[in-house]
Amino acid sequence: MTNEQQPQHRRTIPTVQTTPTRKTPKTENRTVLISGAGIAGPALAYWLRKYGFRPTIVERAPALREGGYAVDFRGEAHLSVLERMGILAGVRAAQTHMGAMAYVNSAGREVSRMPADVFSGDLEILRGDLGRILHDATKERTEYVFGDSIAALAEDADGVTVSFERGEPRRFDLVVGADGVHSTVRSLAFGPEDAYVHPTGLYSAIFTTPNHLGLDHAGRAYLTPGRLVAVYSARNNTEAKAVFYFAAPDAPGHDRHDRAEQQRIVSRAYAGNGWETERLLAAMPSAADFWFDSISAVRMDSWSRGRVALLGDAAWCPTPLSGMGTGLAVVGAYVLAGELAAADGDHLVAFARYQEVMDEYVRGCAKQADGVANWMVPGNRFMAWFVHQNYRLLPYVPWKGRIAASIRRTANAIDLADYGPRGSALAERDGPGGR
Ligand SMILES: Cc1cc2nc3c(=O)[nH]c(=O)nc-3n(C[C@H](O)[C@H](O)[C@H](O)COP(=O)(O)OP(=O)(O)OC[C@H]3O[C@@H](n4cnc5c(N)ncnc54)[C@H](O)[C@@H]3O)c2cc1C
Repeated sequence: MTNEQQPQHRRTIPTVQTTPTRKTPKTENRTVLISGAGIAGPALAYWLRKYGFRPTIVERAPALREGGYAVDFRGEAHLSVLERMGILAGVRAAQTHMGAMAYVNSAGREVSRMPADVFSGDLEILRGDLGRILHDATKERTEYVFGDSIAALAEDADGVTVSFERGEPRRFDLVVGADGVHSTVRSLAFGPEDAYVHPTGLYSAIFTTPNHLGLDHAGRAYLTPGRLVAVYSARNNTEAKAVFYFAAPDAPGHDRHDRAEQQRIVSRAYAGNGWETERLLAAMPSAADFWFDSISAVRMDSWSRGRVALLGDAAWCPTPLSGMGTGLAVVGAYVLAGELAAADGDHLVAFARYQEVMDEYVRGCAKQADGVANWMVPGNRFMAWFVHQNYRLLPYVPWKGRIAASIRRTANAIDLADYGPRGSALAERDGPGGR
């Protein structure tokens, strides 16, 4: 049983009623181009459409990216946004039902375990499944353009002229970058990513692989100094995800689009690692959904400039170590769209309110990642031993359960306004798209 079924999560979070000044958004600020069809982008499109805006999503990938790892939602704030979107039941139906993660020695024998509520949150789902649910919830009334990317933004008093790598230039009233840690919109509107993207020194690789260990809604992890390799079953045990988190002095400067180079980095880092590592590395080249990146946080003082705003990992990536990125993405989408509706499309007012509402919440969630790298990937044998002892004692210590409770408190530390059904009449009338 996952924690989302436990009664303490069912309490109602306070809602804040905002006072609308008009019933529909300003006609001059209705078309919104969203870069990125990950999690934040489609979630934003859902709410914008509901409030009468006309969102277009441009996604660099040629189609929806279906692969990926498990992501989780924690606490009532995350779950209530899914509920308000009408997708909570669908997300629940697709949840992973993952049990504890067992840490094993080189012979595969369990030495400690991490409880499911710390590891998997309250409601865990494969990122690809969540993306599909969000796409299904938006595709009828949102224009999706796959296989393209914004190439340039030229803002003037009335809107933004957007040039694309492939398509013809188009005009939009507003542009939102929901294009992840390495956001193109952020680079174009705010400058090079070095100023905002802060590497933790860790790298990660993830891919789908056969469930050769026969795991039943379970995971196995193996720790050696500077390296964690884990496997967990997915899609009702029909497959598994192989996950690598590691320190890699030779990885900085790697080509983000060169898969072969990335796989060489992983293979070098894990040479002679033991346990099941060799078998997983051998399966790596044939994986259809290999993913590799540095584990980096994004920190910015402001998420908007003129008619351009950022959302999700592009704005505030708290790193996967926080376990908060997906919840933050859907909550942020809800707030950004809601503030645009509440301000009747006045982007200056809305973007300032969005920052005000989300800022402290984002900081709190990002803090969850503090120190996690040392626990997740201990740098030496003593620290690895210490981590195992802690996990081993966890079920017996008086503060048992407080780790998950504290994470849930942080995830709940926002009062979500009820923005109401503003603009829905307009949404019924108009189609999607830019000008
Ligand atoms: C290994 C790993 C494990 C994670 N585990 C968890 C977890 O347990 N819990 C949790 O809450 N979160 C987790 N996360 C984080 C979570 O995946 C993200 O925080 C979340 O997906 C943020 O969504 P997003 O839409 O902002 O960005 P993304 O999901 O990164 O989506 C960005 C989209 O933009 C597209 N794109 C990129 N560049 C362009 C461009 N130039 N033009 C058009 N499109 C572009 C990309 O193709 C992608 O589809 C994890 C992340 C990783 C990497």
